[in-house]
Amino acid sequence: MNEEKQPSAKIHILGSCSGTEPFPGRHHTSLAIELPDSLFFLDAGETCSYTAHLMGLDLLKTRAVFISHCHMDHIGGLPNLLWTIRKLSVVKQKLPVSPVIHTYLPCLDSYEGMMALLNNTEDGFRCGYGHQAHAVRDGLLWSGEEEAFTLEAVHNHHLPYTPPAPYLSFSFRIGLAGKSIFYSGDTSLEDLADTVPDYCDLMFMETGHHQIPQVCRFLKAAGKNIRTLVFIHHGLRVLGDPGRAEEELRRYWGTDGAIAYDGMTISLQ
Ligand SMILES: [Zn+2]
Repeated sequence: MNEEKQPSAKIHILGSCSGTEPFPGRHHTSLAIELPDSLFFLDAGETCSYTAHLMGLDLLKTRAVFISHCHMDHIGGLPNLLWTIRKLSVVKQKLPVSPVIHTYLPCLDSYEGMMALLNNTEDGFRCGYGHQAHAVRDGLLWSGEEEAFTLEAVHNHHLPYTPPAPYLSFSFRIGLAGKSIFYSGDTSLEDLADTVPDYCDLMFMETGHHQIPQVCRFLKAAGKNIRTLVFIHHGLRVLGDPGRAEEELRRYWGTDGAIAYDGMTISLQ
């Protein structure tokens, strides 16, 4: 563990729902990582910018958005996020902290379609700053020493893979303020043996395609040393009976875990 003084960091759950039928108080998956001068998004489900703004996050600090895969429950809020950043820039007469807002996503044609949508909005979506898309591929995508934030993509098999086409679905290994964090995205259970680091301080795991007992058993059998396990991207089984989900978490994992909800904040220090 890094003994140097680390900046304070928070992770905000903007949306905790999978791509199932709409559910009261739950929105599609998105997390915001907040550092003193930076904001990063992991997935950008519907209403992520709305929720972030109402939670008091400064969207003009956004530096990059990382999309795990291009299904609607992970990318549907992206055009609105970029639109809202521009709108806040106009309203506040202030530029974002980053001269370029970077978007990392597996399918660049999704980005092109989104930009066509944005270019037909007010003022042709002209901005005093830039936007840049990058393809998500295995390896380090972001390393910003001053931000104490690194992100590495590692492919999974949530989406079919036909060589030599690129992988289209990813999990993220993150270094944040000296902590090791894993974000599953949508994944097959078997992928976790390879994608999850042997040790991590905090793991976000989807429950849209899996049940809590099976996930807990698999991680323990794989010998993963995970301090805190947070379930996210819930399907109807968790949404329909959150009490049972909490009970399963305690029974199969223990006390160091949580069932994520919209508006939840995790402080790392
Ligand atoms: Zn999903």
